[in-house]
Amino acid sequence: MTSAEKQKIAGFLDLTADYLGSGYKSAEKEYNFDKSHNIESINKNITIRENDTIEKISEEIKACRNCNLGSTRKNAAAGEGSLNPLVMVIGEGPGEDEDRQGRPFVGKAGQLLDKMLSSIELSRDTNTFIANIIKCRPPGNRDPYPEEITACAHFLERQIKFLKPKFLLITGKIAAQTLLKTNDSIGKLRGKVMEIKISGAVYPLIATYHPAALLRFEDYKRPAWEDLKLLRSRLNLLTDLNENNFPAVS
Ligand code: URA
Repeated sequence: MTSAEKQKIAGFLDLTADYLGSGYKSAEKEYNFDKSHNIESINKNITIRENDTIEKISEEIKACRNCNLGSTRKNAAAGEGSLNPLVMVIGEGPGEDEDRQGRPFVGKAGQLLDKMLSSIELSRDTNTFIANIIKCRPPGNRDPYPEEITACAHFLERQIKFLKPKFLLITGKIAAQTLLKTNDSIGKLRGKVMEIKISGAVYPLIATYHPAALLRFEDYKRPAWEDLKLLRSRLNLLTDLNENNFPAVS
C-alpha cells in the first residue's frame, strides 16, 4: 500500500470516528508544558524574558538547535502577521514550501488558510498572526515527535504572551491535542469555544480541521465553515470591533 493510500484510509477512519464520537470530554484548561520530556534540561539556558519582542523570538528560533530538526530543516518558519492580532492561528509545523521560504502556511494548505481567513475578514496582513506548534519541518512531513514539540513549546508561549491575541484559532489534530492536552479528535473538539490559560492569561479558542485536511476531504469543509462563522460571531462581540470597522459575517 502506498503512503498516499495509507493517508487516505487514516483520514476516513478519522472521519468515521468524528461521526461516531459522542460529545466532548473536557480539555485541560491550563496549558502546561509536558515535563515528561525533560524540557528543563533541553532548555535550561532559556528563560521567558519580560523584554521579549517578536523579532527577538524569531531570531532565537532561526538560530535554535534544541532538537534534531534544527539540523535537518532548511529554514525555520518562526511566524508572521499582525503585531496587534485579533486572532492567532496555530498550525502544526512547516511543510516543504514553508521550509523553503521560512514562512508559515505558504503552500497549498496555506493558500486555502488565507482564503478561509479572508472569508471572515481576517488576514495575516492586517489583524492575524500565523504560527505553528513547531517551527522547523520534520523530515518527510512526518508528525512531530513529543520531544520536538516540547523543545519548541516555549517559543509559542512567548509569542502568545507578547502578542496577546484576542482569540486563538487552532488548526488540526496535532496542534489541538498538544495545546488542549487531550487525545480527542477534532470532530469532538471543534464547534465550540474553549478557553486556555497561558502564562496566567486566559485566551478563548476554537479548534477546527487543518486546511490540508480540507483539501483532501470535502466532508470537512462544511463543519470548518461553521467554525469560522462561530469565530467571526465571537469576534463581533468584542467591543472594539465596531471601532475597527470589521463587518459582521452572518
Ligand atoms: N501546515 C501547518 O500546520 N503549518 C504550516 O505552516 C504549513 C502547513
